[in-house]
Amino acid sequence: MNKRLSLSTPTMHSEEIAFVNEAFEKNWIAPLGFNCDNFETEMSEFLSSNTKNISCLSLNSGTSALHLAVKLAEVKKGDIVLCSDMTFSATVNPVVYEGGVPVFIDSEKDTWNMDPAALEKAFQKYPQAKVVMLAHLYGTPAKMDEIIEICNRYNAILIEDAAEALSAKYKAQECGTFGKYAAISFNGNKIITTSGGGMLLTEDKSARDKAFFWATQSREPYPWYEHKEIGYNYRMSNVVAGIGRGQLLHLEEHRGLKTDIYNRYKKGFENCPVTMNPYLQDTVPNFWLSCILLDKSVKITPLEIMEKLNQENIESRPLWKPMHMQPVFMDNDFITADTTAVNEDLFTRGLCLPSDIKMTAAEQQTVIDLIKSYL
Ligand SMILES: *Cc1c(COP(=O)(O)O)cnc(C)c1O
Repeated sequence: MNKRLSLSTPTMHSEEIAFVNEAFEKNWIAPLGFNCDNFETEMSEFLSSNTKNISCLSLNSGTSALHLAVKLAEVKKGDIVLCSDMTFSATVNPVVYEGGVPVFIDSEKDTWNMDPAALEKAFQKYPQAKVVMLAHLYGTPAKMDEIIEICNRYNAILIEDAAEALSAKYKAQECGTFGKYAAISFNGNKIITTSGGGMLLTEDKSARDKAFFWATQSREPYPWYEHKEIGYNYRMSNVVAGIGRGQLLHLEEHRGLKTDIYNRYKKGFENCPVTMNPYLQDTVPNFWLSCILLDKSVKITPLEIMEKLNQENIESRPLWKPMHMQPVFMDNDFITADTTAVNEDLFTRGLCLPSDIKMTAAEQQTVIDLIKSYL
């Protein structure tokens, strides 16, 4: 291929630059401002329903949003936090920023997300755990009914890392609206992007305002700079918020294109010794990334496929390496439902495929044909 096929890169339209230009024309380049305010309102309208009114706070990254969520959940030094294991490290790093101790929970095979059975076991071992940090992997909703039931029974706060899952739905409810606090990301590779950015989501307006206070250096309402708490500079700039407003207009369109990509892979690999990343019937993933899992009979490894695809100028990548296998988390506990770890198996056999919405069906067919020739 002449053109490199990527996992997921930004796709801009025309509205983004119009909103950015407005910021320039008004000379409103400084952080905060009308684009941030409107982006929050528009995202709130997208996420809210008859029964849920979601307050949004625009921030400079999804990681910042997760950090503020961890602070709102009052994670303190030494507190156990039960965390998704198969995820990006940004899900769990903010727990450690606050001195919390992540305990990693294995995944189930139906969605590759946190296994409710393993979560139950973890609560039996750590009944003092008060916070659960759950990620929806690759835009596939986790088993929310079961997880929420367990969290409620153990009186634990659920933080939802919906960084990869904006516009995905579980039983018609938007991901990012289940947790007491949730984070979404607008990093360059996500389903919509601001080049870099994120949002904190919560039904609790006063929590949103507390997070805003922390995100703006914890400045007290005095004429001078008065501080009673440690603050952060986590604000989103009014310029990039303009990009986000334009992107939000195309969110459902992006999800539609990602869905088409997933379905073409699924059809293309029919009768091949691979399966796609699975999801539950009553959920609508956003199909942020399409992935395959090689059958155990397949001789070639995901890394060898990745190497071959790379020679064809096609990007692919192993699944997120589970947190419990990361050197930095060597000392942290890991809970499985069974005796063997689902995530180690997924990591050994899984591969993320090009899922860029600018990829044509013909280009995707080339990817499918190449992989089939390797199997
Ligand atoms: C991208 C991502 C984040 C972090 O978002 P940033 O905006 O890059 O800070 C957190 N969690 C998951 C699961 C992600 O994929």
